[in-house]
Amino acid sequence: MTDHAVLIAGGGPTGLMLAAELALAGVDVAVVERRAGQEMFGARAGGLHARTIEVLDQRGVADRFVSQGQTYPVVHFHVPLDLSDFPTRRNYVLGLWQNHIERILTEWVAELPVRFYRERDVTGFTQDDTGVVVRTADGSCLTAQYLVGCDGGRSVVRKSAGIAFPGYDAATSWVTTEADASDEPKWGWHHDAAGSHAIGHADGGPRRLRAVLTEPHVGHAGEPTFDDARALLVAVYGTDFGIHSPTWVSRFTDMTRQAAAYRDRRVLLAGDAAHVHAPIGGQGLNIGVQDAVNLGWKLAQVVRQTSPAALLDTYHAERHPVAARVMRGVMALSALRETDERTKALGEYVSQMLAMDEPRKRLAGQMSGLDVHYDLGAGHPLLGRRMPDLDLATARGPLRVFSLLHEARPALVNFGASVDITPWSDRVALVDAEYAGPWELPVLGEVPAPHAVLVRPDGYVAWVGDGTQAGLADALTTWFGPPRPA
Ligand SMILES: Cc1cc2nc3c(=O)[nH]c(=O)nc-3n(C[C@H](O)[C@H](O)[C@H](O)COP(=O)(O)OP(=O)(O)OC[C@H]3O[C@@H](n4cnc5c(N)ncnc54)[C@H](O)[C@@H]3O)c2cc1C
Repeated sequence: MTDHAVLIAGGGPTGLMLAAELALAGVDVAVVERRAGQEMFGARAGGLHARTIEVLDQRGVADRFVSQGQTYPVVHFHVPLDLSDFPTRRNYVLGLWQNHIERILTEWVAELPVRFYRERDVTGFTQDDTGVVVRTADGSCLTAQYLVGCDGGRSVVRKSAGIAFPGYDAATSWVTTEADASDEPKWGWHHDAAGSHAIGHADGGPRRLRAVLTEPHVGHAGEPTFDDARALLVAVYGTDFGIHSPTWVSRFTDMTRQAAAYRDRRVLLAGDAAHVHAPIGGQGLNIGVQDAVNLGWKLAQVVRQTSPAALLDTYHAERHPVAARVMRGVMALSALRETDERTKALGEYVSQMLAMDEPRKRLAGQMSGLDVHYDLGAGHPLLGRRMPDLDLATARGPLRVFSLLHEARPALVNFGASVDITPWSDRVALVDAEYAGPWELPVLGEVPAPHAVLVRPDGYVAWVGDGTQAGLADALTTWFGPPRPA
């Protein structure tokens, strides 16, 4: 008997989202978190991309975030890329600081049966065929069937598991601070031989600023001081604008690394524990939350023993390539920020390309996460792609597709085909529906209307019906376990 079915090390955005997913699926889950509360040191993510807002919408909580942020109809990849013509209700980026994102996630998780062990530092673990023993810095242990490391880029779980973290060392280092300025700062971007620097307005007064300053060298050990931030301002602008009263000073780099494996038997990694890269493009938190949504229902089914543990291998198979692609994009964006004439010339050509409709759609699809395609084999273009949030007509009245996913359960939406899923009816909802409008996917455009679709709890299509049941039993077994005996 273990303390919990699943332990999550780390209650940042990834750990919180995973805790919610597991709790919704009825799994006994606990979060072991170093911090006493959800207060954050420093500013990190500045918002949510469209697909992340959609996955929150699939759980019925997106509007809690949207109501507290600011929406923008563009993503940025070297230049602003309009996504307002994308076929989604969430055709925008939501500007919302990470401390607010974490606060809203925490409020939601508080409504669910999730146990928190706060001010507990995970120091390591051991695992065998039956479970995992997690050690914490106070000398105590917690046991679980599974452990998920959501403990950030320096993940103790990843290191204890001996999972390699290959990639690239930092080439650029930035110091960031939030403070008051006595003199009027030079707001906006500033580019020089050292790189790009920025000063923006922060909450709390007309001269409250948030500065991000490129350091002349990488490889500094330890945390920067406020004097380091001042010295950098003087080096870049010739003045420190009289900054005082700092809330925080921190450093981040463009180190780019990814865990070689997202699973080692009973231990899994998600979020920054699995992948780190520069914040350019604003992807880290977003793909961490989406890792959690991919893993949660699979882990729940394995814990409940409706699916074999091998289902967990699909988590690495599906999510590792997504982060790998994001990391290539971030490295490309970083390279394009160089200020030498050759890079500027390259940037001009990239801008020209992205002024064309097809490249704009492709890159906007990638940055927004709306084009994610899991390789579930050949077939209808919907297979492995996100199910659109269509307005359905059903015997119960009008229904949005995403509302079928609020409980994190799978659904078979049937548009008049003859389907029988009785042996899975304890796990999969069957919804007879009508939909007369076009089927349109971001980037791809219009696709043929399916006769039925099997939608996984993460909102991706696992099977598309052509009017027959061909392949349905296999898809149900693969994703939701073997049929219930008659
Ligand atoms: C300057 C900056 C700007 C960024 N901007 C963006 C952006 O615009 N968009 C975006 O998507 N992303 C952005 N990111 C990245 C984003 O902040 C991270 O990807 C995100 O926080 C990852 O979430 P996580 O939950 O995986 O890890 P973390 O947020 O690092 O959370 C890890 C949690 O684990 C806890 N923890 C760590 N070790 C232990 C331990 N041993 N025991 C117990 N608890 C532990 C920590 O206290 C923390 O709560 C930015 C990052 C930086 C630095």
